[in-house]
Amino acid sequence: MRQFSDKTLLVATHNAGKLEEIADLVSDFGIEAVGAASFGLPEPEETGKTFVENARIKAHAAAQATGLPALSDDSGIEIDGLGGEPGVHTADWAETPNGRDFVMAMTRSHNELIERGAKKPWTARFCCTFVLAWPDGHDEVFAGKAEGEITWPMRGDLGHGYDPIFLPEGYHQTFGEMDRWEKNRISHRADAFNKLKAVFTK
Ligand code: IMP
Repeated sequence: MRQFSDKTLLVATHNAGKLEEIADLVSDFGIEAVGAASFGLPEPEETGKTFVENARIKAHAAAQATGLPALSDDSGIEIDGLGGEPGVHTADWAETPNGRDFVMAMTRSHNELIERGAKKPWTARFCCTFVLAWPDGHDEVFAGKAEGEITWPMRGDLGHGYDPIFLPEGYHQTFGEMDRWEKNRISHRADAFNKLKAVFTK
């Protein structure tokens, strides 16, 4: 595995929340995270059919544009009773002309499970893929998951996105009811980050 030994890491995202979360994670390794916006990078179109494909598109575009190694993250939720949807379209299901509406996206997920007559438990997983790409075209891929099920109605106002309808396996609280520390310990992003750490430690 190729190692990353710089002190500054370009994070290929325009999402301030993601940048903050990744900055927090890499700071333990004495690394400062800098977002794509600081370099004036455009947001590439996410045309991939998988999380890995989309994460690769974002990381390689940033590495090519800057000549620096770049880290990207692509994530979403796969609901088995919906054939894995929304998957790479997780954010798209929340799009409205006035911004993202996750209550609408969660309601759609629930309605489609009912319409399709999906049997309970409504198993699902959050997925997160990190790609670290270098300007010479090399990359390293780290995928993480959090298994659980969809519960209805929504519960909790902590977290973000689809958290209020996701009950992680072995817990009685949804991600929306869990405090940030607890969620960040068991989440898909934590799982992927635990694998990514290997590039920083040598
Ligand atoms: P991306 O920017 O294409 O990676 O979009 C990921 C989408 O997945 C986000 O808009 C969220 O709706 C959803 N998502 C990813 N991680 C989480 C999470 O930890 N909780 C809730 N929703 C999440």
